[in-house]
Amino acid sequence: MKNIIIKYLLILLVFFASGSILAVINIKNTTVELSRLIKLHQIEDLRKNLVMSIQTVQSDLYTVGTPLGKKLDSIIMNVSNLDDKATMCISCHHEPAITKELNDIQVSIHDYQSALSQYITASANSEMMDRLKLNAAGIGNAIFVKTTNMSIKASQHLELSTNTAMVRINRAKMILYSTGALTFLLGIFIALKLTVSVTRPVNKLVEAVRAISQGNLGYTISHIDKTEFGELIKVFNKMSVDLEKGYSQLHNEIIERRKADEELMESREQYALAARGANDGLWDWNLTSNKIYFSTRWKSMLGYEEQDIEDNPQNWFDLVHPNDRKELETKISAHIDGITSHLESEYRILHKDKTYRWVLNRGLTVRDKNGKAYRMAGSQTDITERKIAEEQLLYDAFHDALTELPNRALFMDRLKHRLNQFIKGKQRSKNSLFAVIFLDLDRFKIINDSLGHMIGDQLLIAVSQRLAKAIRPEDTVARLGGDEFAIILENIMDREQVEMITDRLLSELPLPYHINGHEIFTAASLGIAISSPDYDRPEDMLRDADIAMYQAKAKGKAHYEIFDKKMYSSALARLQLETELRKAVEHNEFVMHYQPIIDLRNDKIIGFEALIRWDHPTRGLIYPMEFIPLAEETGLILPMGEWLLNEACSQLHKWQKQFDIGSVLKMSVNISSKQFLQSDLIATIDNILRNNCIDACCLALEITESLIMEDVESAIETLNKLRDMGIHIHIDDFGTGYSSLSYLQRFPVNALKIDQSFVAKMFSNEENMQIIKTIVSLAHNLNLDLVAEGLEEADQLTHLKELNCHYGQGYLLSRPMGPAAIEAFLEERLPIAEAKK
Ligand code: C2E
Ligand code: CA
Ligand code: CA
Repeated sequence: MKNIIIKYLLILLVFFASGSILAVINIKNTTVELSRLIKLHQIEDLRKNLVMSIQTVQSDLYTVGTPLGKKLDSIIMNVSNLDDKATMCISCHHEPAITKELNDIQVSIHDYQSALSQYITASANSEMMDRLKLNAAGIGNAIFVKTTNMSIKASQHLELSTNTAMVRINRAKMILYSTGALTFLLGIFIALKLTVSVTRPVNKLVEAVRAISQGNLGYTISHIDKTEFGELIKVFNKMSVDLEKGYSQLHNEIIERRKADEELMESREQYALAARGANDGLWDWNLTSNKIYFSTRWKSMLGYEEQDIEDNPQNWFDLVHPNDRKELETKISAHIDGITSHLESEYRILHKDKTYRWVLNRGLTVRDKNGKAYRMAGSQTDITERKIAEEQLLYDAFHDALTELPNRALFMDRLKHRLNQFIKGKQRSKNSLFAVIFLDLDRFKIINDSLGHMIGDQLLIAVSQRLAKAIRPEDTVARLGGDEFAIILENIMDREQVEMITDRLLSELPLPYHINGHEIFTAASLGIAISSPDYDRPEDMLRDADIAMYQAKAKGKAHYEIFDKKMYSSALARLQLETELRKAVEHNEFVMHYQPIIDLRNDKIIGFEALIRWDHPTRGLIYPMEFIPLAEETGLILPMGEWLLNEACSQLHKWQKQFDIGSVLKMSVNISSKQFLQSDLIATIDNILRNNCIDACCLALEITESLIMEDVESAIETLNKLRDMGIHIHIDDFGTGYSSLSYLQRFPVNALKIDQSFVAKMFSNEENMQIIKTIVSLAHNLNLDLVAEGLEEADQLTHLKELNCHYGQGYLLSRPMGPAAIEAFLEERLPIAEAKK
């Protein structure tokens, strides 16, 4: 604005100044003109004087009669005066024309002078004098005329100059007037313009302020010039925009704050509800004043009334179990010091009823801007039930649910611990030996199956109690699963001490158990592994005890064996055999041999016993005693059994056709206990018979007594079904096992096979002879057929014949043979005549 005002003032000044200069120039020109006018007047005066002088001279000239008259001198003086005046006049500033005329006049004056001097000086005749006088007068007249003309011209010029001067003066006046007027107008214009340029922005600003005050934030003014008002508007616009931004920010913040407030309210409610719902006790500890607030729930959780506990944190710590207090305090300090992100601690706390409750405490600190905690608050949850459940779970995880003995996991853990101790040599005194006993109940399966699982379970509990009683407190007895137990014998002196303890176990375990009115007998086979620097894994030690137990079982039940390295290699061999056996089943490396069974009365063949052989790729023929027990243990007997039953039936069918013998010959097939217990046994046999077109009456199944005794009731059920189908049942190895005559009557049996051990020693041992006789009379009484096995010698044959044993089987009669050899045998010994009947 200042600039504009200065600009306008300058314009005004320049305008006024140029007007004035113009006027001054005009006035100056007028002054020149005027001074010329004054000079012209002087000339006029001069001319007038000149004219008058000339007139005077002329008149003098005409009035004098002689040249030498007195007047002549004055004429001369006047003329020279005239010349001076003309010279003076010429020196003035004239129009060139006038100057020329003046020069002309001066020349004429000179001529006049010389004419007059001639006249004055002449002393001629009067004629001449008159002529000279006339000449001078003529010149004087010419000067007069010239001077008059010049005067007229000068007057004209004077008038013109006066007019010009007047015009100039008027013009200067005009210029001055108009300059004044225009300056005035310009001043008014500038004033108006300045007024407008001030009021317009001010009005706009007022309008804008009003708009803003009415809430139109961010209102901006579009007109921006370069004046201070422009600046002001710019600043104002920015302020308005900032105001709007600030306002909207504020507005958003208010909305957010309101939302946060609402959320806070909601979360407070939720928290209050949750706290009430969760049944948690709350606490809020002012670390600066060391005052703590305990919620009512916090106190009631521990059985206290509101007034019972004051706001001192020490009240809290005093209630915490002494063993847990240090940990809680450490955790609180750690959190206050910012080491942990929050406080979380489980501990026991004393209830008013003097019992301890498990609680979970969670807390958080609030910190000032320097990070120093000044407040801490949290909750206390009663987790007693959870803790009990956890403890139970932990207990369950490491204990056998039935016997409550440690389970395999805990046993292995303890064994590992014990072994580590041993390895570290911490206790390498004489006492530092320890032993692992692997114990497997004999006949448990039979008891379980025959008397039921309830009784089986009770027996296991009773056995576990007996074991626990038999060992020392520092020892561990665990149930590994099923009927397997294991014991760690701690701090033993030597092998003898182990044997002593084992003997005690072996003598106590077979004592009768009285369960639910049953008197039950069981025994156990024990395997022992004694600690040695060779062991570095608990599994190895338990494995060796297991191997030893396996050996004990193989030697006959209710025995123990102490592991030695040979056992390991035999166990390894067994493992290898198992692998090979699996392959053999897969590749079907088995062949069937058949041993004829002979009617001792007429020496004719009545059938065969099918006997399996393993045609081992490297070892040649392997006999069943070497692999059947393993096949039974591993379950491989199932696919093998099905295959061989089918093979035997298909062979029989082939021979039936080949020799046209109908159903005369029987095929006896050995059935293992695993096979017998298969639920689909009946269906499998039925299928095989059908597929091979064999009558059921041509098939005899050989089973052992102990197989039946494992589960008498279900055995009878299966046997009845087989009998109903027409299949014959022979009891194999009769006399060796656990027999019960009362059971035998209930079994649907067709024949007994006297075990070859009795036959082999019938003459060397009277007892054997007696057993054979008993079996023979039993068979006759029960109306059963009788087959003597293992007939090797003629007098055995003779004697058995005498005892009325009708059938026999043995090397004496025929060795087991492959199909081709049997065919040759059949050619000879076939009772075709009878068969045809
Ligand atoms: P086992 O059922 O008592 O079979 C009779 C065993 O006595 C056969 O031995 C046979 O070769 C043998 N033997 C026959 N006559 C005489 C003799 O005069 N003197 C002697 N010392 N032995 C004689 P093998 O074939 O070695 O079979 C042994 C056992 O393997 C069988 O005893 C049977 O329990 C089992 N076994 C054989 N084949 C099978 C089968 O296919 N399935 C099942 N589950 N077991 C089988
Ligand atoms: Ca047999
Ligand atoms: Ca036998």
